[in-house]
Amino acid sequence: RSPINHELELELRLMPYGSDQILLLARDVSKLRRLEVMRRDFVANVSHELKTPLTVVRGYVEMMQSSNTELAPQWQKAFTSIASQVSRMDRLVDQLLVLSRVENNIETEHQQTVNLSALLFSIMEDILWLNQEPQHEIVHNITPDLKIKGNEHELKSALLNIIANAIAYTPARGVISVSLTATAQKIRFSVKDNGPGIQAAHINRLTERFFRVDKSRSRDTGGSGLGLAIVKHVLNHHQGELSIISDGKSGSEFIIHFTQELAAKPSVAPVAVD
Ligand code: ADP
Repeated sequence: RSPINHELELELRLMPYGSDQILLLARDVSKLRRLEVMRRDFVANVSHELKTPLTVVRGYVEMMQSSNTELAPQWQKAFTSIASQVSRMDRLVDQLLVLSRVENNIETEHQQTVNLSALLFSIMEDILWLNQEPQHEIVHNITPDLKIKGNEHELKSALLNIIANAIAYTPARGVISVSLTATAQKIRFSVKDNGPGIQAAHINRLTERFFRVDKSRSRDTGGSGLGLAIVKHVLNHHQGELSIISDGKSGSEFIIHFTQELAAKPSVAPVAVD
């Protein structure tokens, strides 16, 4: 314990020293950890506090827009703009709340066997319904009954984020293919699009909070730059590995590998042989 009665957390590193010695380096990271906890709490509290005023503003704007009073064109324009900005802020606050829940491991305890195939079928059903006047060609290939251990709520938000990005960043009439397949131990989830692609220099930064390759494009699509940060935390909770493949010019593929929860083999009782 440190003098101010906080848990002391040390980061230890072993390094070769000369030809036959080893150096042990210890760094006190407890202050960094405490600052990180304060940052997370701050973001969670602010987001939470913003929800109520946003709901009130939205309520009043909707009331004005639906009232029978004839509004002058400039007021109609102003209310439409306020409504769209409030929705944007609302989405951002929702994403911040989801991020702080995953960062603080709120859902992690609720673990169960999740049928990823069934979950993805239901996500695709919603997506195809929303894409009824087709903007894109969306195809899927889902192997049934692939299961992992985890939290369904978190997994849904991770898979949905990746599919929603492919749809948002691919220009109209693009092709998006979603697949869920398995090898002996692993499950492979993949979302491939023929959108603008992502340059190599940006790929490593995509899961950082608020990182967006093209801020104005992302703003147009309603993006907050938090989606892939959420995906990263969810995958940490599920030992999932994300790889992003793109030549930076045409199309990207987001792939996640999970370890499959295999059905227990029926145990065979030994048979006595005379
Ligand atoms: P956002 O809310 O801005 O979409 P994300 O964290 O989900 O935030 O994604 C971060 C950035 O990665 C996006 O702003 C976009 O620039 C880029 N990106 C994500 N998916 C794709 C994709 N399929 N094609 C091209 N760019 C993408």
